[in-house]
Amino acid sequence: MERKRGLTLDSGGQLNNGITIKSPQELRAMREAGLVVAETIEVLLRSLEPGMKTRALDAIASREIKRLGAKPAFKGYRGFPATICVSINHEIVHGIPGERVIREGDIVSLDVGAVVDGYYSDSAVTAPAGKASPEALRLIKTTRQSLQLGIRQAVPGNRIGDIGAAVQQHAESAGYGVVREYVGHGIGRALHEEPAIPNFGEPGKGILLRPGMVIAIEPMLNQGTWHTQALDDGWTVVTADGKLSAHFEHTVAITDEGPQVFTALNGQQASQESTN
Ligand code: MG
Ligand code: MG
Repeated sequence: MERKRGLTLDSGGQLNNGITIKSPQELRAMREAGLVVAETIEVLLRSLEPGMKTRALDAIASREIKRLGAKPAFKGYRGFPATICVSINHEIVHGIPGERVIREGDIVSLDVGAVVDGYYSDSAVTAPAGKASPEALRLIKTTRQSLQLGIRQAVPGNRIGDIGAAVQQHAESAGYGVVREYVGHGIGRALHEEPAIPNFGEPGKGILLRPGMVIAIEPMLNQGTWHTQALDDGWTVVTADGKLSAHFEHTVAITDEGPQVFTALNGQQASQESTN
């Protein structure tokens, strides 16, 4: 097939750089999936407490996603064995729920994905179990703020580097390392689509953001080095120096009206909230 010049759409809404532009119906399905994820995360946060096993959180998520008429996005994805990822303390992402008991003061990343009518949404939060240290709480707060600042850059006419630069600037000025080896992503009919959305970059660089693109922005901030290590279970990613890590994620649609946060209960307003 002839290679087209510039970025043009084929009938499936795919730009010739592999990025898909979603139709209004597709955006509606993704928003529905996003609301399932948001409600599931709310329930998980209410349930999280010291003394519980991580697999209890997985069971709650499985029940909620089903109750809301959706399917879990991660179960079976490349062989992932659970409904959600639960990553504790120095674990960055992709922790497998199991027999581990959550302890007072642990910080717990909950990563949840759901599918509605074949369309995906993906979101993550990090929260303390019980009372965490001020240092841990500061890391969590800065990571949440980084996501918020990244989302504000997700507007037509900006470029992917604007998102990464906003996240990186906020994270590094607070003294944290920004994970390089794992990044955000386009999302739609697949959990991971083009383009990659790094949490670092230069303003004005990278792919142009257009209305109808949907991306998962997911800063992972480390207390120490940004270097990571993968564990022998084939999934869990930890900080190379054993220090804490936090992770937040939202699925965000680029629209002419500004960023629509599909995985927030309050949608568009979520992008305008203060970063306090
Ligand atoms: Mg995720
Ligand atoms: Mg993701």
